[in-house]
Amino acid sequence: MPTIRQQIIDLLSEEELNARDLSQALSIMEKEVYDHLEHIERTLSRQGKKLLVTPHRCLNCGYTFQKRKKWSKPGRCPECKEGHISMAAYRIVSL
Ligand SMILES: [Zn+2]
Repeated sequence: MPTIRQQIIDLLSEEELNARDLSQALSIMEKEVYDHLEHIERTLSRQGKKLLVTPHRCLNCGYTFQKRKKWSKPGRCPECKEGHISMAAYRIVSL
């Protein structure tokens, strides 16, 4: 039985997914997905792979959260103050 982290790596090697997709596929909470992703990003280079992130994006003004330290989806856009934010998506590629 592969670990949750290995399952996340396998899923993201197949297709681009967001935290909600992963939480549903693995029956874990979104917050746990972000914790795993943070760890995966740190350890992935040892396997000759890289985590690509399409950042969270404001659906109202197009602002992207490029330099965000926290992984979870922000509640509100700092530019237009709207709360319609699209979730970041993740993909794993071999280097
Ligand atoms: Zn905005």
